[in-house]
Amino acid sequence: MARYTESVCKQCRREGQKLFLKGQRCYTDKCAVARRTYAPGQHGQGRHKTSEYGLQMRAKQMTKHYYGVLESQFRKYYAMAEKKQGKTGEEMLILLERRLDNVVYRLGWANSRPEARQLVTHGHIAVNGKRVDIPSYLTSPDEVISIMEKSRKSEKIKSALEANASRPVPKWLEVNRDAFEGKVIVLPTREEIDLPVDETLIVEYYSK
Ligand code: SF4
Repeated sequence: MARYTESVCKQCRREGQKLFLKGQRCYTDKCAVARRTYAPGQHGQGRHKTSEYGLQMRAKQMTKHYYGVLESQFRKYYAMAEKKQGKTGEEMLILLERRLDNVVYRLGWANSRPEARQLVTHGHIAVNGKRVDIPSYLTSPDEVISIMEKSRKSEKIKSALEANASRPVPKWLEVNRDAFEGKVIVLPTREEIDLPVDETLIVEYYSK
């Protein structure tokens, strides 16, 4: 399976924002964005005037890195969003937000989206009682997401649940931590997605 091989902290530094890809470290003063506010690489500290194309590209790249999605898959989300009734940019973010790995992260069962993705691929997560090991699985309202019975005793999962117990769960989801269950109540709205991106720039990028 294709993956990003660049250091995840470099991805954040390039975007100039925390993308929360490294779990608890992201909330400490060890975070690379907090320590070095400039972009990585030889010219990272130089002054650059960003072109319109550059802004569109950065918006697209930041969103891809935030959700851990590669270019070909990202284009598929764009194509799916274009077929929907609403605004394409918003529809695309809603599709990304519905991904099973993102839902597992949002429920507070993992410290980061990459960690949530691993929980899914390693078979620790079920949807409506059946194991689903596909991180891109699109969740829908009324679906119940749970941690597989045999995985509930895992130290890694227990410590992630403890560490994230106070992280707020978005209103479109509900969680029952004692039962190791969560539920999709409704589809999220753009206002409920906390990604600081102007999604219209992504639409402009792909509509050329
Ligand atoms: Fe990004 Fe987290 Fe690394 Fe900070 S620690 S740069 S938020 S991945």
